[in-house]
Amino acid sequence: MTAPTEVDLIIIGAGPTGLFASYYAGFRELTTAVVDSLPEPGGQITAMYPEKQIFDVAGFPAVRGRDLVAALVEQADQWKPTYLLGRRALALSEVDGRFRVELDGGAVVDAGAVLITAGIGEFTPRPLPAGDGWLGRGVVHFVPALDVHRGQDVVIVGGGDSAFDWALALHPIATSVTLVHRRSRFRAMPATVRQVEALGVRIITDAQVTDLRGDNDGLKEVELSVSGETVVLPAQAVVAALGFTADLGPIDSWGLEIDHRSITVDSTMRTARERVYAAGDVASYPGKVKLIATGFGEAATAVNNIAVALNPEAHLFPGHSSSAE
Ligand SMILES: Cc1cc2nc3c(=O)[nH]c(=O)nc-3n(C[C@H](O)[C@H](O)[C@H](O)COP(=O)(O)OP(=O)(O)OC[C@H]3O[C@@H](n4cnc5c(N)ncnc54)[C@H](O)[C@@H]3O)c2cc1C
Repeated sequence: MTAPTEVDLIIIGAGPTGLFASYYAGFRELTTAVVDSLPEPGGQITAMYPEKQIFDVAGFPAVRGRDLVAALVEQADQWKPTYLLGRRALALSEVDGRFRVELDGGAVVDAGAVLITAGIGEFTPRPLPAGDGWLGRGVVHFVPALDVHRGQDVVIVGGGDSAFDWALALHPIATSVTLVHRRSRFRAMPATVRQVEALGVRIITDAQVTDLRGDNDGLKEVELSVSGETVVLPAQAVVAALGFTADLGPIDSWGLEIDHRSITVDSTMRTARERVYAAGDVASYPGKVKLIATGFGEAATAVNNIAVALNPEAHLFPGHSSSAE
């Protein structure tokens, strides 16, 4: 076993709630490790709507999802959290009065307290059936940095909001964007479909991706079956926007009270276990509203209570950040 990462607080989930909690923990002089099964921070925002404007985050009349995540990361980074991305939190145990969280790949984090900000659970992208072996070599499920696709022929597979959002975002950057969908009707919002059509993006319906071909330099072309006919498109990138399944997975067996995939918490955001807290979409109590704004407030409540749980001498009220300079 590699040496455990030792921190005051492990935060499970790097969505908006976990990122803000990480900032807040630093403000309370707690060290953090932030774990996420996705390779990038930002949770649902990064995975599902990075290019959309969000209108109900306090202080921002409108903020693009990607920009909100970047600002949250910048805010958290001033306290230098340890990010463990692309890692699932699997098991929770107690060793000598501290928590031990085992991650896949063998990494271990030891922490005084645990904050679960796992949202709707761990995302597993729906795979592109013909894409075996091409993930990370041309096939992606979401686009962390648009600029990577500058000058590429990009094929987007899917008919939902994400597929159309990627088409809108990539159209000004890519050499060509083609959207491929297996049906003739789309789940995406009609207004977004109209926007994409108006840009002249090529849309191929009733089509299945049957093969991806390339060489050591990467992906070169995508073969489709379109109403029984074979069509070959040049493509250096395929965005498989086929949706995600979400599952609390291993957290289910951590001895918490879980109802309808949500963890029951009290008004301090504590779960059924001492020094294990939850906040954001995953946390549940009467009257809960699942919004980014709610998660931010819950993160502050959880972290301030964790500060006291770890050090009973600490004040619950943190003081004002504006007085911290
Ligand atoms: C299309 C869409 C549009 C939306 N628009 C808005 C809006 O306009 N305004 C608004 O307020 N809200 C909006 N929401 C909801 C908002 O995105 C969520 O409320 C918010 O993302 C919750 O943040 P979170 O950090 O609690 O959880 P999430 O964003 O779900 O992040 C949780 C993270 O935990 C990780 N995770 C889970 N389990 C594990 C594990 N075992 N190990 C490691 N990592 C794990 C996941 O990979 C994920 O990255 C929208 C949601 C969607 C899908």
